[in-house]
Amino acid sequence: MKQGDDQHGGPTRPTVSDARLASVLDTAVDGILVIEEQGKILVYNKACESLFGYAPEEALGQNVQLIMPSDYASAHDRYLDNYVGTGERKIIGIGREVRARHKDGTEFPVELSVGEARTPDGRQFIGIIRDLRSRKEAERRFNELQADLVHIARVSAMDEMGAALAHELNQPLTAIMLYLQAATRSITRAVQGATLPVETFRQVLEKAVHEAERAGAIISRMRHFVEKREPQRREVEINAIVDEALELVMLGQRNPPRVVRRYSRGLPKALVDAVQIQQIVVNLLRNAVEALKGRELPAITIETRKDGEHLEVVVEDNGPGLPPTAVPTIFKAFSTSKRTGMGLGLSISRTIAQNHAGDLTVDPGGDGRGARFVLQLPIIAAPDNGSADEDAG
Ligand code: ADP
Repeated sequence: MKQGDDQHGGPTRPTVSDARLASVLDTAVDGILVIEEQGKILVYNKACESLFGYAPEEALGQNVQLIMPSDYASAHDRYLDNYVGTGERKIIGIGREVRARHKDGTEFPVELSVGEARTPDGRQFIGIIRDLRSRKEAERRFNELQADLVHIARVSAMDEMGAALAHELNQPLTAIMLYLQAATRSITRAVQGATLPVETFRQVLEKAVHEAERAGAIISRMRHFVEKREPQRREVEINAIVDEALELVMLGQRNPPRVVRRYSRGLPKALVDAVQIQQIVVNLLRNAVEALKGRELPAITIETRKDGEHLEVVVEDNGPGLPPTAVPTIFKAFSTSKRTGMGLGLSISRTIAQNHAGDLTVDPGGDGRGARFVLQLPIIAAPDNGSADEDAG
């Protein structure tokens, strides 16, 4: 069909089916274009007018490059020639996200699906074009909100750990105070005529510096954990992330459970947001510590390993496990058994894992076995065969 002839008062009177087709085309929410083998636009529906800003008389008969960004436009003739010559499909019947260009020069994302029709006038291509701007904007907003929520959960975890961390910081600060008091006493005595025990004096100051460094390291670890920043993926060693999470959780624990580390050596790296993955491990460890409160010989085992296409971090405790009724809801928001818990930790942890194309699952245990959580992350680097290395502490 030639839109110019049939729809806009051409010489032939439109048939009923032509009129119906024209109405269907103009009712469609998506842009619909028909081009011939050389790329000339034959049909350009109403939705195209608002998408691209050209009136039908400006677009009809023009090459479809009119509505393409220049880098893509120059390649399009080649695509068409190649397809007509070889039948090799790059987009027909597949559909994909491409950029389009408005009359005012702005470029925007669209989803393009292309079909083909063999007509008496030759081969024609039908393109259906969906504007992706609002979907992209909604996706961007969703990602932003999700990142905010993940961050709030970290701040809230740090808030809950605050008392223990303050206690932990108190130790080096008290030590620094004692060392400096000793140094002051030595100086006072030296002023009164005694000899300054230079070597002891130096050692005391060195110890004070060491304690200050320890306090600084605790603060910088805390700050790094709660800092608000753009999510950022880089290649990291999973064992190092697990170690940092472990240190953060065990800081200031008065009766820490025994921790058994079973780390595989030579694991491939993971392409992840290190702080977010640390956040998952912190959450699993804190839940384990909580589940072990008041239990005999409390212990947590952390294992890192490679399983097929995945890196796995397994956190298991010897607590009571999860009641079977809790399992279906445990990864849902607001599912908690704690008096002050928000029940967001596991739900956010699973969301983070799945955003990384991984997952977080649980074997609930019970009957004398504790809960066992498995965090899976996809492998990105060439795998090394990891060997287990056990270290109980
Ligand atoms: P919150 O810690 O705020 O309760 P989570 O989503 O992290 O939120 O945990 C939800 C619930 O799952 C906890 O309240 C607890 O009942 C249960 N749970 C999590 N980990 C364990 C575990 N290792 N052993 C027993 N119960 C657990």
